[in-house]
Amino acid sequence: MKILCVLYDDPTAGMPDSYPRDDLPILSGYPDGMSLPSPSSIDFTPGELLGCVSGELGLRKFLEDQGHTLVVTADKDGDGCIADRELVDADVVISQPFWPYYLTKEKIESAQNLKMAITAGIGSDHVDLQAAMDNKVDVVEVTYCNSRSVAEHIVMMILSLVRDYHNQHQIVKDGGWNIADAVQRSYDVEGMHVGTVAAGRIGLDALRKMKPFDVHLHYFDIHKLPDAVEAELNLTYHDSVESLVSVCDVVTINCPLHPKTEHLFDDEMINKMKRGAYIVNTARGKICDKDAIARALESGQLSGYAGDVWFPQPAPNDHLWRSMPNHGMTPHTSGTSLSAQARYAAGVREILECFFEGKPIREPYLIVQNGDLAGMGAHSYTRGTATDGSEEAAQYKK
Ligand code: NDP
Repeated sequence: MKILCVLYDDPTAGMPDSYPRDDLPILSGYPDGMSLPSPSSIDFTPGELLGCVSGELGLRKFLEDQGHTLVVTADKDGDGCIADRELVDADVVISQPFWPYYLTKEKIESAQNLKMAITAGIGSDHVDLQAAMDNKVDVVEVTYCNSRSVAEHIVMMILSLVRDYHNQHQIVKDGGWNIADAVQRSYDVEGMHVGTVAAGRIGLDALRKMKPFDVHLHYFDIHKLPDAVEAELNLTYHDSVESLVSVCDVVTINCPLHPKTEHLFDDEMINKMKRGAYIVNTARGKICDKDAIARALESGQLSGYAGDVWFPQPAPNDHLWRSMPNHGMTPHTSGTSLSAQARYAAGVREILECFFEGKPIREPYLIVQNGDLAGMGAHSYTRGTATDGSEEAAQYKK
């Protein structure tokens, strides 16, 4: 079989000779009891770069030993890109949300042998899920592999926005020492109202991680959390996003992108927020209206916006979010720490082992199967597509 793997570029200076740390902590499982990815074996060293082209997700030996062909490329956007050329006879395509290969309807239809699209990470909105259903292409992802990595990033971003870390760090780098400049936008998080849109694996973990800061915690989700969890975290449940945003100082967005959540945060929603609130969005860029976010930062309706997700990715060099005021954006990194890479590389290997051996893939990994939403997909996604406009990614220049 032919496996096409679309990964982000290697480091500009080439693959590292050594890494800052010698090992990774050993985790015994996920908080809800789900087990970590468990392939029969791995051919990579956890803690090394696996998500870039030379890292190959540690798959080459495993695949080639079994007689399969592995093609790895970062060239994924624009007419005639390598990924499009290789897709036409590929059986499996692997892509990462950080460097998404946008599998639009046209691309799916061009790939007559395609049986499965694997997301090396979480969030399969870069695949036209409707087209995948219509063309019987299964879609799977490595549920939970980087959820807690993202929750850590959210905490970092909430604190850095509210305390105005980025501005203060810049003052130091510029050789300055004006304390008044440094603190005129700086507050304590303690006592603030912090809410999440969606309390799934990431949203709930972010709430748990924020609890020790003595904040008031709120959430909205389509399904309510168990009473015991609400009591443990002293949570306030809201039955609508509007209700949540009207009382929160900080809103973090943690739902998947699908047609019902696309542009959920538009001018109208942002204007229902408290003046000077903060948004941290590590879910998907398209859940927010790009222009509305920039306008709200300019007007002061929002005090800060941070996250690591953009649309499209890579973000064009002149993407508005690179230059808007009071933002704390990173490229899409929260779920691809070296720690997370080891888990999703192992998860992809587990999925491929099941696929080749005809064994069932874990139910929580399923998004689309046999022409319909399945597993997590049936729980968290809706039919339709959210890939429109992704061709703009070709405008990014290194
Ligand atoms: P989960 O599936 O555990 O959680 C998703 C939650 O979103 C579920 O609780 C689901 O509700 C809820 N949800 C779905 N639709 C809506 C809606 N319309 N309004 C409110 N809530 C909704 O996934 P994770 O927490 O692990 O990941 C969430 C998302 O975060 C991913 O889909 C992905 O887009 C993004 N992500 C980003 C990463 C990064 O690197 N920045 C890495 C990993 C994920 P219910 O289950 O109750 O139906």
